Amino acid sequence: MTYHPDRLEHARTLADRIVSWRRDFHMHPELGFEEFRTARKVAETLNELGFEAETGVGKTGVVARIGEGRPVVGIRADMDALPINEENDVEYRSQAPNVMHACGHDAHTAILLGVATMLSEIPENERPPGEIRLLFQPCEENQEDEGQSGALRLIDDKALEGVDYEQALHMASTLESGKIEMCSGYAMASHDAFHAVIHGDGGHGAAPHHGTDPVFMLAQIINAIFGIRARRIDPVLPAIISIGTIHCGIASNVIPASVEISGTIRSFGSDVRERQIAELEKALAISRAMGGDYELEIRNGYDATYNDPDIAGIIEGTATKMAGADVLNPPQPMLGAEDFGFMTRLAPGAMFQLGAKFDDIERGHHTPVFNIDESSFPLGAAVLLESAFHLLRKSA
Ligand SMILES: [Zn+2]
Ligand SMILES: [Zn+2]
Repeated sequence: MTYHPDRLEHARTLADRIVSWRRDFHMHPELGFEEFRTARKVAETLNELGFEAETGVGKTGVVARIGEGRPVVGIRADMDALPINEENDVEYRSQAPNVMHACGHDAHTAILLGVATMLSEIPENERPPGEIRLLFQPCEENQEDEGQSGALRLIDDKALEGVDYEQALHMASTLESGKIEMCSGYAMASHDAFHAVIHGDGGHGAAPHHGTDPVFMLAQIINAIFGIRARRIDPVLPAIISIGTIHCGIASNVIPASVEISGTIRSFGSDVRERQIAELEKALAISRAMGGDYELEIRNGYDATYNDPDIAGIIEGTATKMAGADVLNPPQPMLGAEDFGFMTRLAPGAMFQLGAKFDDIERGHHTPVFNIDESSFPLGAAVLLESAFHLLRKSA
């Protein structure tokens, strides 16, 4: 079989196939841990390429091990969609009501199949020694009842055993198409959810002095919570607590007996994460000073994603060699969260953002009009594969 020796040109020869896979996944989106059709299609495609595909890994994941020995470079693609009803009027529009690939995971899966195809076309003796492990991961967007997301399930099923380095890409619908953004060090935040109940006595709206009012307590507590970022955390460190829900009361003239609030806690690094939770306890304890009480429940989410500086450098170097120095956008760490963070805790890894912005309207992630420019796909596949080869050669 002949293939183009230039990695980007090689990837371009597969552009149509990557797009057709992406559109197929886009039309048939599946929520986290329900990626049955997607996983079947991935496994079938890998088999057709001559690779063995292990299915049912981490519930609905698929893993292929290409090559053998050390080192092992894992490349991860997440496969899940979101509970959103697509509003785009395109021929490959989602056929599942209220389910949509609105974060680009359809493209991640298709691009990784593109990498697999490139590997199948490059003769074994022209590949560096070692193993490339393709990790098609379920459920990145959510955690199941036991609090686990897809990355943790893959880790539980030993899919990352022996992995020395990891890589991943994420489509970015707000970044100019064909650009790459790469953070060195912390790239994305840890996130934990909190849920609290503030208890008072409640009572008649005309006689608040006969009891304690949890709404009045909440008013002080909200100020204290928003003050954590401002007064209790080192100002140069990224951190945020946002409140997402407040629920209480049933009638305008009744003071409720309790108020429920929930929110998200985000930061880079474990010290700040612990500090925020401790400060959140203190903020809620205001209720006790006011004659009430509280309960706080923390649901641990994802670890922060830490991009290993060496691997980030390799990816940047690979991208600029392929597409020129202009391909790189200045790095912008963000407080979004990614369960790839669990993988970067196990072995050094890095994730880059691949720009795929349409210029017509804002097509933000997790919106019903999310969409991505498919012409960016070959660059993503080429950078993933070439950087993986670089990592294999580096430790050979
Ligand atoms: Zn997402
Ligand atoms: Zn995502």
